Amino acid sequence: MNTNDNSRREFLATGLLAGLALAGCSAKSNPFAELANDAKPSGEMVKLLSVDGEIIEIDKAFLKPVPSLPAVSNEAARVGIAGKKFVMVIDLARCKSLKKCQSACNHMHQIHPTQNWIKVYPMQDAEHTAPYWQPTTCMHCDEPPCVKVCPVDATFKRQDGIVLIDSDRCIGCRFCMAACPYSSRVFNWEELHLEKEVAEKPYSCETSMPQKKGTVGKCDFCPDMARKGELPHCVSACPNGVFLFGDMLEDTVTNGAETLRFSDLIKDKAGYRLMEDLGTKPSVYYLPPVGRNFPFENNEKKEETK
Ligand code: SF4
Ligand code: SF4
Repeated sequence: MNTNDNSRREFLATGLLAGLALAGCSAKSNPFAELANDAKPSGEMVKLLSVDGEIIEIDKAFLKPVPSLPAVSNEAARVGIAGKKFVMVIDLARCKSLKKCQSACNHMHQIHPTQNWIKVYPMQDAEHTAPYWQPTTCMHCDEPPCVKVCPVDATFKRQDGIVLIDSDRCIGCRFCMAACPYSSRVFNWEELHLEKEVAEKPYSCETSMPQKKGTVGKCDFCPDMARKGELPHCVSACPNGVFLFGDMLEDTVTNGAETLRFSDLIKDKAGYRLMEDLGTKPSVYYLPPVGRNFPFENNEKKEETK
């Protein structure tokens, strides 16, 4: 669904409210009592489309803000954005485990405080090799084992490459968690204490909010942001430009500050994917931690041993 559809929906929704307001006109008491208790006519009239398809005029003071609706229906969210194939590049040479990506993701998706969709692991490939930090997201695999095992089609792959979960369908069997070789998924064991504004929002597969107890959650590549032409929250939050996000079909990725040609970047810097031999075909590529911007410091380990 495009921006025009959204504007039309908002227009119609506003019209619906106005229609409700007009329906109240026949009542003897203040016809707008429920809509705007203290509102006084401003004299500024606006034209709206009623639910009956008629153009009506109403004083602006009697309008209420349209409740925030998901940008697209969950049916459209299953299809994805036409003409796109999203891809992420994670530059390990730039990561110093600030975890700004993680906190932005947690906050923006209202994840349970004990969980993370983005994990940042300390890595060391062999005894004499240098340690480094490795952020992980859902890999949005092109051959996703999680999708193949879901018995109710709650998790699905879209045409733009993003793998999502429909929490309204999820029955919490956790087959997908067992099937995911990247341990990307987390289970909502507990009731989430959501901000009122979020709790009242209609559920959307594209925002993955509000998360629900008894269902599975994971990194969603922030498709609601992509639909607005904006970057995922982790990409924007990282001050070191570790995450680059983009469209494989356009052959570009960006971290907001730099925009690079995806194919050149992967070729020039020897990009690779995790567990390539499994045949999952991840949409997340890594650049090796070569020529690192920062020395490796594992403060978490120091704190643990204190
Ligand atoms: S990383 Fe795991 S959860 Fe994400 S698409 Fe691949 S198998 Fe599914
Ligand atoms: S936990 Fe939910 S998404 Fe995962 S396999 Fe079961 S029904 Fe599907």
